Amino acid sequence: MTKTIMVGGVPIGGEHPVTIQSMTNTKTEAIDQTVRQIRELAAAGCDIVRSTANTKAAALALRDIKPQIKLPLVADIHFDYRLALLAMESGADKIRINPGNMPKKGLLEIIACAKQHRIPIRIGVNSGSIEKDLLERYGAGAEAMTESLARSIALFEDEGFKWLVLSAKASNVKLTIDVNRSIHQRWDYPIHLGVTEAGFDQSAIIKSSIGIGSLLADGIGNTIRVSLTGDPLKEIPVAREILQSLGLKKGIDIISCPTCGRTDIDVEAIARQVKEQVGTLDKNLSVAIMGCIVNGPGEAREADIGIAGGKEQALLFRKGIIVGKFPQSDIVEKLVTEIKRLGDLE
Ligand code: SF4
Repeated sequence: MTKTIMVGGVPIGGEHPVTIQSMTNTKTEAIDQTVRQIRELAAAGCDIVRSTANTKAAALALRDIKPQIKLPLVADIHFDYRLALLAMESGADKIRINPGNMPKKGLLEIIACAKQHRIPIRIGVNSGSIEKDLLERYGAGAEAMTESLARSIALFEDEGFKWLVLSAKASNVKLTIDVNRSIHQRWDYPIHLGVTEAGFDQSAIIKSSIGIGSLLADGIGNTIRVSLTGDPLKEIPVAREILQSLGLKKGIDIISCPTCGRTDIDVEAIARQVKEQVGTLDKNLSVAIMGCIVNGPGEAREADIGIAGGKEQALLFRKGIIVGKFPQSDIVEKLVTEIKRLGDLE
């Protein structure tokens, strides 16, 4: 089991639930916009948010942003260690750096400042920024990335700093899996998982699901970020779905049949509407939406709530017992009512 690190009031690691992270894409110094986006991310289910502190104005803006938000705020810094110092002094709950792109003198100052403010640090290694000598010795791959991370960890540990979160990211899914397995075996610090620069839409969702999901299924990873090009709000439902599908987060599990020539109710529309209305409920319930009597009654009986479709109507089941037969026009409302009622009893 990994150590537990506190990020503001949110624990990462140990036996704590896997947390969902995202990153704002506003200019951080546009304070109102950044606060608005952070609040939207929080409402969608994000647990920890990161913003870039890429300029002095951005690092100083954290001071104004922090009192207006509830989520722990992580400052993302590259190259200029002075911005990391400024971000910590401005109230960042954690900083994220890539030690490979900062001078040792700067890293030592960061460590001293983080100790003073009791702030954890995520140290990341990226497949695109491995030291030349390691690339020559190990070639590009998981081994070189692990050794690069080992150097950074040694520097922090030599200074007696242990509040670390590790991340090793690559845009290649297989490499992401390999390197995270390697660091999980070697250290007991919490691990931040993500497939970096995964791209957009379906292909990015699939890459992230396979990369993050296969590691989580092996018990590796304590906090995740699904990287999707564009609006960060799109990342949260994907992250939530990954966690729910592995039983790592409560949620409504919608089981719906693929539909076929036997289907006489609009399974897809019903499933979509139910998902829209109750998809974010923090309850562990299975809901089966089945098109006909072939597999419908079986699945619907086994789920907490289910329907088995007939000719523009459906049988509704609750905990395996038939509640009644309803016309298609009433099905969504009946399902949502039953889901909420059962959720309240949980
Ligand atoms: S449950 Fe019925 S309608 Fe749905 S795919 Fe199976 S056979 Fe087709």
